[in-house]
Amino acid sequence: MKMTVIGYRSGYPKAGEATSCYLIQDEDTSIVIDLGAGSLSILQKFIELEEIDALILTHYHPDHFSDILCLKQGIMIKQQLGKIKKTLTIYAPEDDFYFKQLKWNTTIKAVKIDQHKEIQFNQLNITFMKTEHTIFGLAVKVTKGQQSLVYTSDTELKPSLVDFSKNCTLLITECSLYKNPSGIAGHMDIEDVKQLVLQSHPENVIITHIPPYGDNTHILNEIQASYSKKCLLARTGLIWQ
Ligand SMILES: [Zn+2]
Ligand SMILES: [Zn+2]
Repeated sequence: MKMTVIGYRSGYPKAGEATSCYLIQDEDTSIVIDLGAGSLSILQKFIELEEIDALILTHYHPDHFSDILCLKQGIMIKQQLGKIKKTLTIYAPEDDFYFKQLKWNTTIKAVKIDQHKEIQFNQLNITFMKTEHTIFGLAVKVTKGQQSLVYTSDTELKPSLVDFSKNCTLLITECSLYKNPSGIAGHMDIEDVKQLVLQSHPENVIITHIPPYGDNTHILNEIQASYSKKCLLARTGLIWQ
């Protein structure tokens, strides 16, 4: 299993960046998790649109799904050119507004997901956990044999997140805030991520969804100082294998 960071920024992308987007590949399977602002462009440096088997959206915040409408246009144009023949499946939470816009013609199929859903893609098994966020959202776990990758998406720290992440091979954790003294809802700060990492013991840690202000290396240094295993700060094109 190979994971490439396409977008990692929280809120909005700074110049040349993208917000949340991760490419998961295993043999003949290519899955994209989230498609935030700026990610459609950067994604194509790593994969052609016609090679993507499925897309998973964790929630309907723009920094996780805003490039989806342009993806539909991309798929449409590639279909007209005869380059896309297969159906792209988008797995996403159901809501009153966005979910029904995901489907397109016969080329894009939308499938509802929630915390009870389980998906099998060849050798990859995918499960979900409901996050503690400002709207309904899902954390994602991708498992292949003994290996497991957990992506927290956007969430506060809660015991079920620790359980969901327990002993995973790779934890891709959000850290949206340096410090959260005013109690901003739905996200983790450095202290929360330290607790998550210490309690769930992942083998590898990638810190993502990082703020578009301040010195991001401070986040890495603080978390790394409290955890014995290697932690990395997400960046465009960072590959874990
Ligand atoms: Zn969010
Ligand atoms: Zn977000």
